[in-house]
Amino acid sequence: MPAVEQHPSAVIIGAGHAGVQAAESLRESGWAGRIVLIGEERHAPYQRPPLSKDYLAPGQAAEPLPLRAASFFEQHRIELRVDAEVASIDRRSRSVQLSDGEQVPFSKLVIATGASNRMLDVPGSTLSGIVGLKTLDDAVHLRGILEPSRNIVVVGAGFIGLEFASAARAMGKNVTVLEFSARPMSRALSPAMGDFFARQHLDNGVGLRLGEGIASFSGDEDGNVVTAVSTSGARYPADLVVVGVGVAPNISLAQAAGLEVENGIVVDHALRTLDPDIYAVGDCASFPNPSGAGRIRLESVQNATDQAKHAAHQIVGATEARYEPVPWFWSIQGGLRLQIAGLSAPGNNCVLRGEPGSGRFSVFCFDGETLVAVESVNKPADHVAARKILDQGTNPTPEQCGDTGYDLKSLAKALALAE
Ligand code: FAD
Repeated sequence: MPAVEQHPSAVIIGAGHAGVQAAESLRESGWAGRIVLIGEERHAPYQRPPLSKDYLAPGQAAEPLPLRAASFFEQHRIELRVDAEVASIDRRSRSVQLSDGEQVPFSKLVIATGASNRMLDVPGSTLSGIVGLKTLDDAVHLRGILEPSRNIVVVGAGFIGLEFASAARAMGKNVTVLEFSARPMSRALSPAMGDFFARQHLDNGVGLRLGEGIASFSGDEDGNVVTAVSTSGARYPADLVVVGVGVAPNISLAQAAGLEVENGIVVDHALRTLDPDIYAVGDCASFPNPSGAGRIRLESVQNATDQAKHAAHQIVGATEARYEPVPWFWSIQGGLRLQIAGLSAPGNNCVLRGEPGSGRFSVFCFDGETLVAVESVNKPADHVAARKILDQGTNPTPEQCGDTGYDLKSLAKALALAE
């Protein structure tokens, strides 16, 4: 019997939200063998969401929020390797090879490699002062150059771009956001919610330019960016450009190892790849859509955490269930806390609950008569109720959801009691 069988070893590639949770859940659900958690970043695992929010505010601590206390890994007998990149997966010998040549054997492997920022490919896009925001190192660099910058251009009105734009406006910077689509966050939000956020950012003094993409940048003789030129031909002064045009899943290791990839590492309902000993979780995983046809890939802390728990439970044989929790997400932009439960789609019938003018309301999205998603602004109670209602598959009508007199909280409570 090979050595790895006698000393079962779980290896996790990627020490982000999903990787750390997978390690913890494996240990807590009874995995007795080695757990090796390998992360290429040189920092102890940290929380990513604050990087585009509080972390940028003046006077914030330089240290990021840790994902777990320093003592956690030793206490849980998790061998954490930071600053260690996995260069390849050898499925035949059941081992991963690090870029320094070390081989680490596995009996079970979890790939949690996340996603990388897409960068721009327009003239001038390699000029100094054009940056992305994904890692702690990115955020530290950005903090350093944000302070002295006056004119900032953000390319892409997605969540991260707009969170950053809000933080920069709070520091009194001139901020222009270029967005090719007709609405901000248009891939994820209903038109009503997108329009609300567009108005809020404009009112906050952000130069939100919808229907305008980036065409090119020009720089000074030192190679620093000076101007952003949009697809309309307009020129915007820029001493800092933040690019937020989405991410691509980190699939190259899986692909080179002969695993199936398709906008992510392809996994089944158990989050297993075509190799029964290899799982993929978090931003890098493409999984069967629990509420529809085809596959989806989600980029959120909830998805990373829940998938990691699920894969760990599968590995130790603690569950045969399919992965199908209700997805949820949050974003903080200025004083607005957006929370989303479920997944909306273009063409959904959307019903307002509450007045957008009050700054506290929700949008209920229906596919036909079926509630599929709820977007809430500064209405945490609606969000909590929505998660419960979507989880139970109960279906209040559009009229009930739009009626603020209709008691959603009690409906959610009754569902909880019925569980
Ligand atoms: P990650 O957390 O990205 O971790 C993957 C890790 O794997 C990385 O550290 C990477 O370096 C490492 N890795 C990759 N390849 C290798 C290799 N070959 N060897 C070793 N290590 C490797 N989500 C929300 O729900 N709400 C928010 O408000 C929110 N805000 C965000 C703000 C920012 C600035 C960013 C960047 C993301 C935000 N997200 C938010 C998204 C959320 O952080 C991600 O969905 C989540 O981190 C995904 O977890 P993950 O473990 O799959 O990937």
